[in-house]
Amino acid sequence: MSSVKQFPQSHLLLAALVALLLTSYLLASPDTHEQDRFTTELVLERLEPTLTEPVSATAPTGPPTHTHTETVRAGDSLAAIFKRLDIPARELQAVLDSGTTAQRLKRIHPGHQLTLITLADAAAGEPTLQSLSYATGALERLVFKREGDVFVARHIERQPDRVMAYKTSTIESSLFLASQQIGLNDDIAVRLARIFQWDIDFVLDIRQGDQFHLLYEELYLDEEFIGFGEILAAEFVNRGKAYRAIRYTDGNGDSNYFTPDGRSMRKAFLRAPVQFSRISSNFNLRRLHPIRKRVIPHRGIDYAAPAGTPILAAGDGKVISATRNSASGNFVVIQHGQQFQTKYLHLSKFGRGVRAGKRVQQGQIIGYVGSTGLATGPHLHYEFLVNGIYKNPRTVSLPEAKPIRAKERARFELHAAPLLALLDNYKQQVELAVR
Ligand SMILES: [Zn+2]
Repeated sequence: MSSVKQFPQSHLLLAALVALLLTSYLLASPDTHEQDRFTTELVLERLEPTLTEPVSATAPTGPPTHTHTETVRAGDSLAAIFKRLDIPARELQAVLDSGTTAQRLKRIHPGHQLTLITLADAAAGEPTLQSLSYATGALERLVFKREGDVFVARHIERQPDRVMAYKTSTIESSLFLASQQIGLNDDIAVRLARIFQWDIDFVLDIRQGDQFHLLYEELYLDEEFIGFGEILAAEFVNRGKAYRAIRYTDGNGDSNYFTPDGRSMRKAFLRAPVQFSRISSNFNLRRLHPIRKRVIPHRGIDYAAPAGTPILAAGDGKVISATRNSASGNFVVIQHGQQFQTKYLHLSKFGRGVRAGKRVQQGQIIGYVGSTGLATGPHLHYEFLVNGIYKNPRTVSLPEAKPIRAKERARFELHAAPLLALLDNYKQQVELAVR
């Protein structure tokens, strides 16, 4: 009976989704306010900075002031800079006495900008400092202003405009090249790979024709692009299989990526404990030993990598051995809860503080690739045990990290639905354009 008219409905749907999205996006960014521009194209919204406070370099009337602009050099200190400018050290002390904000001035960083305004004091024969401004970048400035005999500190932060954008690219040779081709930098590419690293091995699994779709933030200050914000949602199509992730900030303020149905993108274990390596010998319980000509099982995976390559703990756990023997060389065994154990053999050395009884976290460096023990060249021999039984680390099904908490479920869905719909919509537009 009911016939659905596709066109108007999809438009209505998009409008509703965009409205929903804006609501959830504004809610998610409490620092920003006042939305002033909105188109349904790539720029979805633009938010005004909360505070614009130029530091005035002009004195009203009276004795002449000098403005000195200094870029902090390597090895510089404020004392050295004051000396260069012939400003008395007691003026610096007065600034440092202004309170806790001034503590930040004890460690100034090369490249940051200092602006000092002095007043030529004819009677004293020495200039007096009127204000000091320390800019750590476009977004933050510490300002110390003279009020009588003391300095009053202010911490000025600017919020960039956050503009949501969409981009897609198809991999021809590498993820980095595919990202560069559409104007994204390596940092975004690495962050994208990190989101999916539990499902996709970005060294071994990537194929020509793999594709990604990104909804992310671009940051603008005074209409000028200053960098990338967060990846809000992403889809990665690896060998025809699509993986999707949504960034969600929970009630405690912790941000993580989840699948559309609320499962964590993180797994309890990394698929491989060494990055940028290649497999030189696979898991094989019936391996015919090339020299001894009999079946000697290979109960782990060998990752060939240059000596000294960091080895990461595959999951959170407790080190139960960090020692050596003649066959395994330096090796580490980590217990993860009751069921799981991981073993790392032939290390050149152990990670800092890694010894029996110590807790380690997923991704922590527990040692470095070497060729100690019975090894012909530098590699990591990695083993994965479930209830004492050796499993193939490449294919064993890994337990997931915690999903969305039940009480956050509704809020997550409200946040995720419009992002997913936008991804779908953009994908569709791109597919139509290609046809
Ligand atoms: Zn091996």
